[in-house]
Amino acid sequence: MNLILMGPPGAGKGTQARRIAETYGVPQLSTGDMLRAAVKAGTEVGKKAKVAMDSGGLVTDDIVVGIIADRIGEADCAQGFILDGFPRTVAQAKSLDAMLAERGLKIDHVIDITADTEALVSRITGRSTCAKCGEGYHVEHKKPAAAGVCDKCGGTLTTRADDNEETVRNRLAVYHQQTAPVIDHYRHGGQFRAVDGMEQMDTVFTKLCAILG
Ligand code: ADP
Ligand code: ZN
Repeated sequence: MNLILMGPPGAGKGTQARRIAETYGVPQLSTGDMLRAAVKAGTEVGKKAKVAMDSGGLVTDDIVVGIIADRIGEADCAQGFILDGFPRTVAQAKSLDAMLAERGLKIDHVIDITADTEALVSRITGRSTCAKCGEGYHVEHKKPAAAGVCDKCGGTLTTRADDNEETVRNRLAVYHQQTAPVIDHYRHGGQFRAVDGMEQMDTVFTKLCAILG
């Protein structure tokens, strides 16, 4: 099962990708997570990516295409993978098509999780994530029992440097300009579906599972 999860920042791609990965036993390939790890580790890629990420802009296509090309060649991707946050430009989608064709692979499902822009700003600026297990929280919609502590594992909750309002608005603008056209790239293939990301997380997950079978 090779899946692309699309949708604006805050639509719930990451959360749903993690649940699909657990349920179906295929890895979640999040370019955002991989880039954040590179920034933290201070690698060459991380140094190049940091400026774009801090402002809410996109990292260059050659960097993310290179990361994904390496990652889908790893053994754990043999049974499939979930792309989360990639492709984000039409050029990235074309590069992905070419790299899959070269390896005799194809995308089975492209699912767009849709959401309303103002709701996204409030979702993103209020969210935090467990540094240990990755569980997501929100100041209004999903408060942890003790402030700053993960209910599941007791880990510390962290917020992303780019989850402030100014950067979020820029990320949304970039999404509409550069990423929304990627949907048109896939819309006409039989594998494309859209799911309403404004519904409850569990409802969204149930709908995704119905599509994936
Ligand atoms: P979100 O979807 O919540 O905005 P991500 O974690 O997917 O967050 O990405 C965070 C940042 O990483 C983006 O704002 C961008 O700078 C960079 N990034 C992630 N994926 C890509 C990509 N495919 N192409 C270019 N930049 C990317
Ligand atoms: Zn945790």
